[in-house]
Amino acid sequence: MLSEFELIARYFDRPQAPDGVVKLGVGDDCALLLPPPGQTLAVSTDMLVEGRHFFADADPEKLGHKALAVNLSDLAAMGAKPMAFTLALALPSADASWLAGFAQGLFALADAEGIRLIGGDTTRGPLNLCITVMGSVPEDEALRRDGARAGDDLWVSGTLGDARLALEVLQGKSMLPDHLMALAEERLHRPIPRCALGMALRGIAHAAIDVSDGLLGDLGHLLARSQLGAEIHATSLPAGPALAQQPADSRIDYMLNGGDDYELCFTSPPEQRDAVLSAAASTSTSVSRIGSLKTGAGIQIVDAAGKSLPFTSHSFDHFG
Ligand code: ADP
Ligand code: MG
Repeated sequence: MLSEFELIARYFDRPQAPDGVVKLGVGDDCALLLPPPGQTLAVSTDMLVEGRHFFADADPEKLGHKALAVNLSDLAAMGAKPMAFTLALALPSADASWLAGFAQGLFALADAEGIRLIGGDTTRGPLNLCITVMGSVPEDEALRRDGARAGDDLWVSGTLGDARLALEVLQGKSMLPDHLMALAEERLHRPIPRCALGMALRGIAHAAIDVSDGLLGDLGHLLARSQLGAEIHATSLPAGPALAQQPADSRIDYMLNGGDDYELCFTSPPEQRDAVLSAAASTSTSVSRIGSLKTGAGIQIVDAAGKSLPFTSHSFDHFG
């Protein structure tokens, strides 16, 4: 049986070359960071709880990826450059194969994004994964929710809806042929944090949010902070590859209300359209212009002819 400290040493304390940001990592009472001079520190925490965010038998390697990815997505939505992260872990037991898989998924993404695990806490308890990420962004260039202006274009990165489609199949509420389920599951288990795009949008986007609980709900938060409304063009919404194979009239609710997309929803003035497309191309990320921001409140969805479409909003709420 591993002790708490053996467990930390074996799975979470990795020798790493100095990276100019982390002065002191795992092993002391605090980690010490050196934020770039003149930049603000962006900090965000996200927790994944067994039975709530994932099933008890979830693949630990995928969980390791996702736990970090959902946190990095928040840095992306702020335009911040990832610096480092901490990991607070409650585990029912010190299961070596679970820990090895989890660490593998976690560090594969950490290495791909060039960030280090600098500390955390480890305790026995029902499985619970809590990560805090730290990033840096020039003070005036952070992509806040309250920066949108009337007349801005509304954009979303990547595609929407596949993660929710995969979840419904796993829950037995929908069915998909195997090859489409493989595509959809990839989006559910392996969200790609859009950090490079977020950074490339500094100075171009007025406001941004990441889509974690569904486009309408998350856009609603941005609109509330910016005191604006929006019009969305239904035909411009980007369906995920599996969703795109479903009947047209069944797609829209997945794109508007499906959660777990981890794409960026952002606004920018129409004169920045070319700059947005260059930022997307330079970071190999697709973007779709899905509407525009209006004075007043509320969201309207219109068809290709400009006719208003009825829709429901049922964004995810843990206490709703
Ligand atoms: P303290 O008692 O000061 O809270 P701990 O004994 O909990 O310290 O942790 C010892 C060291 O190991 C600290 O540097 C802490 O940040 C680190 N640590 C604990 N758990 C983890 C973890 N899951 N991942 C990374 N580092 C961890
Ligand atoms: Mg501790």
